Formats: sequence, C-alpha cells, structure tokens
Amino acid sequence: MSPPTAEGARTPRVALLPSAGMGHLTPFLRLAAVLAARGCDVTLITPHPVVSAAEARHIAAFLASASPRVRSLEFRLLPFDAASATSTDPFFLQFEAIRRSAHLLGPLLASACPALSAVVTDVSLISAVAPVVAAVGLPNYVIFTSSAAMLALCVAFPSASASLGGAADTFEVPGLAALPINWLPQPLRDPGNLFTTQFVENGRELTRVDGIMINTWDALEGETLAALNAGAVAHLPPVIPVGPLPPVKPRSIPGIPWLDDQPERSVVYVSFGSRTALSAEQIRELGAGLEKSGCRFLWAAKSKKVDKEDDGVVLEELLGDDGFLRRMEGRGLVVKDWVDQDAVLAHPAVGGFLCHCGWNSVTEAAIHGVRVLAWPRHGDQRLNAWVVERGGLGTWPTEWSWEGDAELVSGEEIARRVRELVGSPDASDAAAPVGEEAVRAAEACGSSRKALDELIEKWGRQL
Ligand code: UDP
Ligand code: UDP
Repeated sequence: MSPPTAEGARTPRVALLPSAGMGHLTPFLRLAAVLAARGCDVTLITPHPVVSAAEARHIAAFLASASPRVRSLEFRLLPFDAASATSTDPFFLQFEAIRRSAHLLGPLLASACPALSAVVTDVSLISAVAPVVAAVGLPNYVIFTSSAAMLALCVAFPSASASLGGAADTFEVPGLAALPINWLPQPLRDPGNLFTTQFVENGRELTRVDGIMINTWDALEGETLAALNAGAVAHLPPVIPVGPLPPVKPRSIPGIPWLDDQPERSVVYVSFGSRTALSAEQIRELGAGLEKSGCRFLWAAKSKKVDKEDDGVVLEELLGDDGFLRRMEGRGLVVKDWVDQDAVLAHPAVGGFLCHCGWNSVTEAAIHGVRVLAWPRHGDQRLNAWVVERGGLGTWPTEWSWEGDAELVSGEEIARRVRELVGSPDASDAAAPVGEEAVRAAEACGSSRKALDELIEKWGRQL
C-alpha cells in the first residue's frame, strides 16, 4: 500500500487521544493502524488506569502487533474523587477524570521529538484538551465516535437544549430532522447530569477545532454529511468521513467452532456491545423469544456494565435456571466471555444481528453486509438505529423499550422479529448492497480513502 504523502511533504506525525470504553477506544486503534499503513508516525496516548479489562487487553494486544510506526505514551491520570459527580456511570466518570488531567498533556505534547503535526482527540474530551493543544501550537482534530446523525445532534444541542424543558415532544436538529425527544440519550433530559455538561461543552468546541473525523461514509450518511459540511447545523470545520475503519485483527481471541457446523446464513447473532447490561427480567424474555423463534442463535450475554464486575456470574443464574441452556443445546449457543465480533459477523453461518446499535457494531454489520434488527438501549443508539433503517441496513421496531422504560419487550414479539430477520434467505441478503458500498468507500479511490489521504497530505505540508 503506497503512502499518500505528496512530493515535498514530510512524514506526518499524529498523536491520538482516546477516552474510555471500547466504543471509544476501538475507532482510535483502527485509525492508528490505518494512519500507520498510510505512512504516518502515530503516538497513541493511553490514559491510565482504564475502566474495563477489555480496554487493557485490547491496548496491550494492539501494541504487541502494531506497525513500528506506532508508539504508545502512557498518560497517568490524577486521582479523581467521583463522590460528588452528577453521574454514576463509570465511563462518564472516566471522561471527567481524563478531562481534569488534561493540563498534564501540554508538556508531553510539546516535548515530542520530532515535533507533532496534529493531535486527534476523542469528542468526549475535546473542550478540555483543545486549549492545551492550541497552547503548544498544534492543530486540533477530533474523532467523533458515533454516526453523522449523532454529530448533528451534538452540534445543535448546546444552543437549543433549553427547548427540552418545554412541552414539545420533538427536538429540531437543523439539516437533519425533528427528532422525537425520547430518541435523545437519556442523560440529556437532565441539564445537571455530568454527561449533559460535557456534551454541551464538547458540542460548542466542535465549531472551533480544525477538523472532525468520523467513522461513517457517504453512501450511508451522505445527506447528513453534506448538511453538516454546508453549515446547515452550525458553522463547522470540515467533517471528514473516514469510515468504515477496518477492524484490527485480534490475535488472542479463540474462534467459535460451533458456528462452523451451522447452515449458511441461519444464525442470528445477539449482542448489546461491551457496556450494556439488560435487566434479569429482560434477559429471560429475550431467552424465551430466541427459544420461541425456532431459529439458531449465538448470544453474547451480559449482566454488568463493566466486565470486571462480571466475574463469578454463571450463565444458568443469568438466564434463569429452568433448563434453557439444556433445551437449546445444538440450536443455540450462549457465551459470557468476549467474542471476536468481527469474526462472528464475517462467518458465513451468520444471517442477522440483533444489535444494540453501538456505532462500531453498526459499521461492522455494514462491512459484512449482515442485516440488523435494531434494539437500542441507551445513549446514541436510537439515533444510530434510525440511520440503520434509513440506510437499508436493517429494521428498528421504534416501539421497543430502552433503559429507563418500565415495559419489557416480550418474548413473543422478539420471536416474531427474529423469524423475520433470519427466517428466509431473501431477508438476510437485503443488507448485501450496503456492505458492498461500505467496502468500496474504504478501498483505493473510495470516498473515505480519498478524504483521509487529503487530510494526511495536509498534515505533511503543515510541517
Ligand atoms: N465487541 C466484541 N466482542 C464483544 C463485545 C463487543 O468484539 O463481546 C466489540 C464490538 O465488535 C465493537 C465494540 O466492541 O467493535 C463495541 O463498540 P460499540 O460501539 O458497538 O458498542 P458499545 O460497547 O460502545 O456500546
Ligand atoms: N458524545 C458526544 N459528546 C460527549 C460524549 C459523547 O458527542 O461529550 C457522543 C459520542 O459520539 C458517543 C455518544 O455520544 O458515541 C454516546 O456516548 P457514550 O459514551 O454513552 O457512547 P458508547 O460508549 O456507548 O458508544
């Protein structure tokens, strides 16, 4: 693969600063690998300590097999007393801990030798980090870790959030849509919540940075990207679609041989990502639904937000000890450990994905052309589910409840939708065109590849 740096340009040297949680770390590791392959020198700044075991494992595995162009720099965080914070979410608390340590980055960035060309920061940190980066004279870039639709909301929110207190049941995002209020991330309904405070400050800062990279692509979200770049939401720096960022191949996670014995496109893969725990009651309904559907399934089950707290929870306890696992033997597999999701989605036996719509999962389903049944649970996931349906990647039963709603989604309803998802070959083929477009965007001459190469060239000229 030939690097894109133009004649007269020098090797761009880029520092990447992720925040917390696999949803945020993942696009950074993927971008680090892509930038190194495109001829950049990359410094991955890793905040320490991390929240989840998955983050620690993935950082170590990535660095062990990364290109020599990638080096890491540990960023030791100051102690942060979370007792008075207005959120208990461990990942939001970690955003805050990193934000409060941001001033320590100045000397680290200034002493980089040779000098850096740019710093790319996670959106959740940008309002705290951008002034530090600007003070050492470096350009500020952001990775927005979700959909372009979510970016539009993030940029529109600071100036219009007052309207949430009124009677309106929609929230107008210029250039996008009037969104039902109950599609917004749950904490945004509370102006005092830590996440809301950060979201507002970061949303404002996005208008002042030098560029916003985003893991999406024209064929999926072209209209929203065009609106963002035309200033329809706010006056923004360039919004640069660089997706889908290709998964970095993990070396150490065992495969799932059970999948090899299943017929092509027959299995529904069920996962709610790395940090979404269903209630015990909803887990039982989901189990009942998968059983009633009559379909084959691979279910990555999770009962805790942070994986370190999962130790000791046995599957029988999680699923209700009524013989579910015994009855499903041969037809369904339930796993509690981390699965190599990209390998699962790439497997020919997988015909559909019951997915929470974390943005990385959506991009992975798209890369492999696997049709999605969206069941968003919190945060940006309803907006992402909307993108999934709009983009032809799958369906979203908008009436299904999410975190904070009292009702459960019933087993009957889940069974019916799962049968629709993988019950016929036509259904599971429906997402194939989205997959082809996704792959094309990231290939040589694809829209995202071109956008990224232009940016790398610009960084090279800036030295
Ligand atoms: N993931 C995985 N195995 C698991 C759980 C998650 O490989 O058992 C990966 C998944 O493929 C995705 C990331 O972890 O790349 C989760 O990010 P996403 O944005 O989809 O959701 P989040 O976990 O942030 O809610
Ligand atoms: N987000 C944002 N500003 C912030 C923090 C988060 O725009 O200050 C966005 C970000 O893109 C993220 C989404 O809001 O994908 C939801 O945040 P959360 O950390 O809950 O995401 P997850 O880890 O579940 O993907």
